[in-house]
Amino acid sequence: MSASKRRYSASDVALAQFERAVAHMDLDPDLVAYLREPRRELIVHFPVYLDNGHMRMFTGYRVHHSTVRGPTKGGIRYHPDVNLDEVRALAMWMTWKNALMNLPYGGAKGGVAVDPRQLSRNELRRLTRRFASEISLLISPEGDIPAPDVGTNPQVMAWIMDTYSVARGYATPAVVTGKPLSIGGSEGRTEATGIGVTITAMAMMNKFGMKPENTRVAVQGFGNVGSVAARKMWEEGCKVVAVSDVNGGIYNENGLNISNLLEHVARTGTVVDYPDADPISNRETLTAPCDVLIPAALEGQIDDTVAPDIQARIIAEGANGPCTLEGEQILLERGVEFVPDILCNAGGVLVSYFEWVQSLQSFFWSEDEILARLRRLMIEAFEQVWDASRQQEIDMRTAAYTIAIQRVVDAIEARGIYP
Ligand code: GLU
Repeated sequence: MSASKRRYSASDVALAQFERAVAHMDLDPDLVAYLREPRRELIVHFPVYLDNGHMRMFTGYRVHHSTVRGPTKGGIRYHPDVNLDEVRALAMWMTWKNALMNLPYGGAKGGVAVDPRQLSRNELRRLTRRFASEISLLISPEGDIPAPDVGTNPQVMAWIMDTYSVARGYATPAVVTGKPLSIGGSEGRTEATGIGVTITAMAMMNKFGMKPENTRVAVQGFGNVGSVAARKMWEEGCKVVAVSDVNGGIYNENGLNISNLLEHVARTGTVVDYPDADPISNRETLTAPCDVLIPAALEGQIDDTVAPDIQARIIAEGANGPCTLEGEQILLERGVEFVPDILCNAGGVLVSYFEWVQSLQSFFWSEDEILARLRRLMIEAFEQVWDASRQQEIDMRTAAYTIAIQRVVDAIEARGIYP
């Protein structure tokens, strides 16, 4: 049976990536067994009144993978396909991402199985407040700090912050990041993930002597990550030839004018029907003639059915887990280079960390300061992963994992196992 016909499990991918890195390390097998398991998992079933007067049950999750290096940190996702296996994988990826960026955080993720586009604003608010109250068993500024992910945004974070704060009787901005500026959000947070993708993709291009003006880019996904990455790559002088969103894709071999495209999207809600391009499918976006491919949608998109047709030389993973194991293997064998997700999209959680620090101190930094720190720390992490990858002759993902896992192991060894 081909891989694509097997049931896709994000946790299987996360665990296999972890084992692949462990094979290059000298770790106590008991610690390896410990790191495979999440620390705690909360599943909640909760009712929400819809605008039509009927009540509907929803299911949500919050998983803490590791609490060793600090409070847990990671986003909350609203998507119909959210399930425990996926949230568990995303929580583990956050542990490695946070450790790779040397943030004083463990890893967490949460989500609700819901299509937020099917709900009115009032329904979304009621769902968010009820979910926030259900997971208030776990979240706190010192313990676990949510942020936006697929299907959530600053408004959703504001409702979570408010729900938590009302229960306590005072404003607690540090309980979430990715908040609106008006309640203590940070300059630069909304764009941080897309900017980080661009910084690391450009750093990788630089390693191979690829000049922006000769570089064609394709971007799958035009949400908060993909649209910013497309704009930044275009501003850097790259030719963005293909982009897609949930409704379909567009292609122009001479490059799209991303500023005009963003206006089109603001007007119509989708990249589809942009006049200055040809329509293409989601698959054709991935296989478009390009040098850099930025998957910035969901996990498991690049599988063994599409990988053989991918033309890019560099894959910069804006999404978490965009490749299946088989898809990645095919590309690695062909010499394609990866900027792995836990490095490529870490700009989001990095500026989340800046936001959390600002919220705790009630003292705010300028946008210039934040963007300068973001750039410096992304480049530092990129160079560490690059050096480890070349010195040990391992792929960039395995290199990133070995650095991250070692940091978590060092923390476990320093703290010891209770009792
Ligand atoms: N959801 C984002 C991620 O996957 C951001 C998490 C955060 O800022 O805590 O990295």
